[in-house]
Amino acid sequence: MMRYLPLHFDLKDRTVLVVGGGELARRKIALVLKTGARVELIAPEIKPELLEILKGHRIHQRKYEADIMGTQALVIAATDSSAVNADVSRDARSIGIPVNVVDAPDLSTVIFPAIIDRDPMVISVGSAASSPVMTRYIRQLIEQHLPDGLSRVASFLGSRRDRLKAAMPDIEQRRRRTEFFVESPGYTAAENGDEETAERYLFDAETVADEAMTTGEVYVVGAGPGNPDLLTLRALQLMQRANIVLYDNLVSPAVLDRVRRDATLEFVGKRSGYKSTSQEDINDLLVRLAKEGNRVLRLKGGDPFIFGRGGEEITALIHNEIHFEVVPGITAATGCAAYAGIPLTHRDLSQSVRFVTGHPKDGKVNLPWTEFVHEQETIVFYMGLGGLATICQQLISHGRRHETPVAIISKGTTPDQRVLKGTLETMPGLVARTQIQSPTLIIVGDVINFAGA
Ligand code: SAH
Repeated sequence: MMRYLPLHFDLKDRTVLVVGGGELARRKIALVLKTGARVELIAPEIKPELLEILKGHRIHQRKYEADIMGTQALVIAATDSSAVNADVSRDARSIGIPVNVVDAPDLSTVIFPAIIDRDPMVISVGSAASSPVMTRYIRQLIEQHLPDGLSRVASFLGSRRDRLKAAMPDIEQRRRRTEFFVESPGYTAAENGDEETAERYLFDAETVADEAMTTGEVYVVGAGPGNPDLLTLRALQLMQRANIVLYDNLVSPAVLDRVRRDATLEFVGKRSGYKSTSQEDINDLLVRLAKEGNRVLRLKGGDPFIFGRGGEEITALIHNEIHFEVVPGITAATGCAAYAGIPLTHRDLSQSVRFVTGHPKDGKVNLPWTEFVHEQETIVFYMGLGGLATICQQLISHGRRHETPVAIISKGTTPDQRVLKGTLETMPGLVARTQIQSPTLIIVGDVINFAGA
């Protein structure tokens, strides 16, 4: 049983009668105008904003009378009087014009769904008027999975329809080609507005295959610092689109849970006791998998271009002419700082922030220490725990105060986050006495105690 039949109503150049001149009417009118309909409005009092929106449309500033109704395609009653609304409903029914009374399904022959507009793609959600809250909730759930680029893909396909028809008179062949297209890098190209690439996959699929050009592609995606709520919408969309996922240590299980169920997951990070996959091997693997026609998700902790070797990976992809997309992620510094309540800059305390890798090379942390002497600069060290003692000692000997605040954030943004606070002087000792779990981030600067400042 389906109480209402969802139809998409063509209102272009047709007239919609709206009774009522307040906010309810304004909302419905805004929606109706999107379709290219003409509006006829009747109400004794009309919001000035509505008069503005309805320039060039018909407006009757008077009380509703039945004689106004007759030729319109649709009637909407949006007054604050239930008596008037009931009259409008009765009059419209008596001459068979579809009528909607706002918030009164019993008086309506048509009701408005919740709408997701990615013109020309439109999704309508209804609950047979049983729960507007549920309808809106579902709309929100769907909304976040629909890429903004959906409109561009649908418009692209719509505008190429005749050409495709001319090139392929056989409807079956056209269907197969379009299906190929939506699975190919042409789809992401169209999403991102690259019509030239999109056209090649739509019209020249054979030559694409002949050139031995791959139909696979790679998404280099930042997965953020660990909390899945911090994934971007684009990351989530591509996590649903990929069929193979290469991930490393920093990508949390909670994030991996959001990957499409039937995708193959492959760990390419370091695991104690095992040799880690070298960067070259990862680059080669990305290229090989894409060439085999896979949609490969390269999922990296934080942001792929901040201490993430994303640059090296895309260099390999560019060399091999593989289509790719890079999606930024929330980097550990901004994620951890936010969740620890530390503003990285502050008008009075810090005018700049520096992201530095504290990863020791051959047991030594070699950094341009003389650049780190500015009191009013926050410094964030990634991968710095091993070199903590050196970092603190070098900062002091290059002129930063012994009592400069230092925070160490472990497993930032996750439910296991721990924040340890001390100073350049005390922190190495504190860490030696405390069990700290990786990953950890070190923040140095007065912003750490900003609340007490
Ligand atoms: N591309 C990543 C950084 C990779 S380097 C990004 O943009 O965040 C790895 C370092 O990031 C770790 O050694 C640690 O210093 C830091 N890091 C990443 N996630 C973290 C987290 N949840 N908590 C604390 N530090 C983190």
